[in-house]
Amino acid sequence: MEWEVVIGLEIHAQLATQSKIFSGASTAYGALPNTQACAVDLALPGTLPVLNADVVRMAAKFGLAIDAEVAPMSVFARKNYFYPDLPKGYQISQFELPVVKKGHLMIRVDDEELRIGITRAHLEEDAGKSLHEAFDSSTGIDLNRAGTPLLEIVSEPDLRSAKQAVAYMKKIHALVRYLEICDGNMQEGSFRCDANVSVRPQGQTELGTRAEVKNLNSFRFVEKAIHYEIERQIDIIENGDQVVQETRLYDSAKDETRSMRSKEEANDYRYFPDPDLLPLRITAEFLEAVRQTMPELPDQKRQRFMNDYALSDYDAEVLSSSRELADYYEQLVNTSHCDPKLCANWVSGDLAAALNKSGDDITESKIQADDLAGLIQRIEDNTISGKIAKEVFEAMYRGEGSADDIIENKGLKQITDSSAIEAIIDQVIAESPQQVEQYRAGKEKLFGYFVGKVMKQTQGKANPAQVNQILKSKL
Ligand code: ADP
Ligand code: MG
Repeated sequence: MEWEVVIGLEIHAQLATQSKIFSGASTAYGALPNTQACAVDLALPGTLPVLNADVVRMAAKFGLAIDAEVAPMSVFARKNYFYPDLPKGYQISQFELPVVKKGHLMIRVDDEELRIGITRAHLEEDAGKSLHEAFDSSTGIDLNRAGTPLLEIVSEPDLRSAKQAVAYMKKIHALVRYLEICDGNMQEGSFRCDANVSVRPQGQTELGTRAEVKNLNSFRFVEKAIHYEIERQIDIIENGDQVVQETRLYDSAKDETRSMRSKEEANDYRYFPDPDLLPLRITAEFLEAVRQTMPELPDQKRQRFMNDYALSDYDAEVLSSSRELADYYEQLVNTSHCDPKLCANWVSGDLAAALNKSGDDITESKIQADDLAGLIQRIEDNTISGKIAKEVFEAMYRGEGSADDIIENKGLKQITDSSAIEAIIDQVIAESPQQVEQYRAGKEKLFGYFVGKVMKQTQGKANPAQVNQILKSKL
């Protein structure tokens, strides 16, 4: 039987506000436990929530970016459940009337352009954290995170593979960072997702029963957890059993998902509008003001890179995948005044490889855009060949100085003096009478042999174009 995989993601993006969604307490990460939880976050009697306007601006910005409806009126609701890290006994969220609905996003996977529907994005507060490790047979509660603003972004069940799910999640990740509404830090939990996964026989229109894998905080875990779920569910069905709808946890150490609890239904939560908060009204003027603050978005940037710099679709896609990478690239082009395609090759080639190897982010690059510009200029003005440039690049990455310093100190300047090159070629020809004879008898493949000899003699410093030309005429 052929199986079709169906996936919908619920992504939680922590909004990058200074203070919490309903209180003035700081949202800064890493403080001592319970030092950033005020009376509202602790749910002391008599306190009332006050909505943070920045949260609304950020949600509206996101809504505009995914071509969604930003609701003129939305409502905060209480989601009731008991847990020690939730002192109010309910979480303030949005239920029937979310602030953003009916948007979409384009993703590209294996050269295919796919439209992924976004059902809704709603505002809610985060809960506190239970700490099990530091306490013997008891649990500590840290309420610093309680009341941190979250935007929960819910996709339609439009994704058909783990690869598509990861591509979609990466695109949302890039988008919230472009919009500067979330720092995207996955280690700190600022960006995480729940993956809903089901399978059905190819051709069936009804959705299969899904399992929801909670709290995945890396792209790799999302991919692995989904793969595991697909295998698990197909096995169950092929053995004649039924998948149960439930919430599962992914254990990265064992690379498996485990049942956590049977799936709760919405009505278990006794949702109702929070009487402490007025309906949220977003006026046309407010939305227009938000529109004025919209930055260039990834897809727009990709298009502009193709137009302005004549980059291929692929190059433009890679370079616009993050705002920092795009900024780096543009600064490189602007300061070097060099061929944009050559610049693109260096950024997505040698630089990307070096960053990958050292585990650095583009913002942590050991070579700044202006320094790389210095190297690429030396390629374009023929001071060094592209091959020697790689050697210079490595030295720059090790911190040995600027391109010019390294070229000078290591004596890497390209030999462009044609009489010097001629002299070396004469010598090579004189030393290889047999090869010359064979070449002249029609064994043209031997040309590379001569080029290699000349390059060896000059430690790779002879200008390749000149070597080719002079060799041809001499032979
Ligand atoms: P909740 O998980 O809170 O009950 P929903 O029922 O709205 O919320 O669904 C949440 C997510 O699950 C959405 O992203 C949706 O696309 C996805 N989803 C719903 N049904 C299925 C299914 N049968 N298979 C895979 N994903 C599904
Ligand atoms: Mg859910």
